[in-house]
Amino acid sequence: MNDRKAPSFPAHNHDHGACVSGALGRAKRRCLEKGIKWTALREQVFQHVTASHKPISAYDLIESLAKDGKRLAPVSVYRILDVLQAAGIVHRLESRNAFFACMTAHDGNRQTVTFVCGDCGCVTEAEAPEAFRALGEVAKVARFHPLGTIVEIDGTCGECTGRPASC
Ligand SMILES: [Zn+2]
Ligand SMILES: [Zn+2]
Ligand SMILES: [Zn+2]
Repeated sequence: MNDRKAPSFPAHNHDHGACVSGALGRAKRRCLEKGIKWTALREQVFQHVTASHKPISAYDLIESLAKDGKRLAPVSVYRILDVLQAAGIVHRLESRNAFFACMTAHDGNRQTVTFVCGDCGCVTEAEAPEAFRALGEVAKVARFHPLGTIVEIDGTCGECTGRPASC
C-alpha cells in the first residue's frame, strides 16, 4: 500500500486564492515558530512570490513589486528572500536561479524533490526521504561528505500532458 501524498501539480483552472491563503497561513505560523518577524513588507514580497506556481527571478520580483507601487532595491529584495528561505516558505529553484513559494506542508529539513514542468512552467515538491537516503548511501560509498542535496526534475506535469498549457 502506498500512503505517500501525491505531488499535487495544480490543475490549470484551480482556485489559486486557496493556495495563496494556505501558504500565507503556513508562512505566518512558520515565522512565529522560528521567531522570525512577519512584517508588512515581507508579506508583500511573499504575496508576489505566491502569485503563481511558477518560479520568479529576483529581477522579475522587483518589477512585479514596482508595478504594485513598491520600488525596492535589489539588496532589500534579496535580504527579504533570504529571510523567507530561512523560514522555509520560499525555496530557490537552483537550476533556474529563481524563487517559488512552498505550497507543501513538509517539515523544515526539506527532503523533497522539485518537479519543474517545462510546458506550463509550474513547480511542485514531493517528499522523497528514501531518495535522499539512497543518495546519502552513494555519497558514503564515495567517501564524500555532502553539505546539501538538491533534486530538481525537469519534465511535463500531468496537467500538461496532452493538454494546452496555461496556469
Ligand atoms: Zn495555486
Ligand atoms: Zn517546500
Ligand atoms: Zn505543466
